Amino acid sequence: MNENIRKVVPYVPGEQPKRKGIIKLNTNECPYPPSPRVKKALSGVDYERLRLYPDPAASDLVDNWAKRCGLNKDQVFVGVGSDDVLSMCFLTFFAGERPITFPDITYSFYDVWCDVYRIPYEVKPLKDDFTIDIKDYTKGDFGGVVIANPNAPTGVALSLCDIEKIVKANKNCVVIVDEAYVDFGAESVVGLIEKYDNLIVVQTFSKSRAMAGMRIGFAMGCPTLIKYLNDVKYSVNSYTMNYPSIVAGTAAIKDENYFKKIVSRVMSTRDRMEKELAELGFSFNKSSANFIFAKHESIPGAEIFERLKKRKIYVRHWDKERISDYLRITIGTDDEMDRLIDALKEIIGSIE
Ligand code: PMP
Repeated sequence: MNENIRKVVPYVPGEQPKRKGIIKLNTNECPYPPSPRVKKALSGVDYERLRLYPDPAASDLVDNWAKRCGLNKDQVFVGVGSDDVLSMCFLTFFAGERPITFPDITYSFYDVWCDVYRIPYEVKPLKDDFTIDIKDYTKGDFGGVVIANPNAPTGVALSLCDIEKIVKANKNCVVIVDEAYVDFGAESVVGLIEKYDNLIVVQTFSKSRAMAGMRIGFAMGCPTLIKYLNDVKYSVNSYTMNYPSIVAGTAAIKDENYFKKIVSRVMSTRDRMEKELAELGFSFNKSSANFIFAKHESIPGAEIFERLKKRKIYVRHWDKERISDYLRITIGTDDEMDRLIDALKEIIGSIE
C-alpha cells in the first residue's frame, strides 16, 4: 500500500493561535475589518440558498473584478484564495520537462507545489541585500518563472520595467507574477497582460481587502491562458467558490474608497514602524508590503521571536538558511505596533 501513497512535505502556514488577548502579527492579515458593505451583503445571504450548489463560474465576482480592473471577463480566473489560484496555475502551466525557476528566498509554497505536482525547478539565489538579480531570469530556457512582487518574506519590490524585461525574455513559458502584496506600494503589471500572452498576474483579497477568511483570489491573463486554467479547474472541482464568498467579495469590489483608506492607513503605520525599528537597532529593506522583514544588530531572531511569543505577540520566524536572524512583522493597528515596540524595548533592555 505504501508505494501507492503520495508523500509530500507540506507547506507550514503561520500559526492561528486559539489563546485570547494576543497580538497577531504573523500571517500578514489586515488589522482592520472588511468594508461595511461586506457586512451588509452578508446579512442578506439567503440561508435557504445554501442547499443549492453555487454558481460554478462565480460570475458576479469575475464580472465585477474584470470591470474594476478594466479587463474583459475572459481575462479573469477566480479561486479559493490566491493559494488555490497559484496551485491551479502550477498544475496548468508547468506541465513540461524544463525546470521552472523562482528565487531561493520567496513564498515557501512554490517549492511545495513543485513537489506535489512533480514539477522540476531550480532556485536562483537573491543577492546578499535580498534583491532579485533580473539577469537570473532573462537568460535561460525555463519551463516557467514565478516572481512574487513585492517578494515575500523580504517585502522588496521589482519595478514594472524589470518585470516586463523578465516577461519579454521568457516568451516560451508562462511567467507568473504573484501580487499578493502589490497594493501596499509596488506597481502592478496587470496592464501588461494585453501586451504579453505569457503573463499571468495573481492577486488576493486576503491582505489589502481584509478578507483572508473568505478565501478569494484572482488570476489575470490572456483569454487563452485563462481558458486553460478553467479547463483544469473544471477537471478538479467545479464549485470552488461558495455562495457567501461570492456575495461578500462582490460587495467588497464595489467599495474602492474603503479599500484605499485601509491600505493607506497600513502604509502610514509601516512608515512610522520603520523609523522606530531602526532606532531599536533593526535593519531591513524598504518594504513595499504590509510587513517588515527585519534583523536585529545583536540579538538572534529566534530569541526575539520566543520572547515576543511569551508576551503574547506573534510574529513570523523561519529557522532557514540566510533568514534565520530575521523576523517578519505584519503591520497591525497603531496601538498593536506601540505594544510591539514597548515589548521589543523591554526584551532588548533585558539582554544588552
Ligand atoms: N502569495 C504570497 C506571496 C503570500 O504571502 C500569500 C499568503 N500566505 C499568498 C500568496 C496566499 O494568500 P491567499 O491564499 O490568502 O490569497
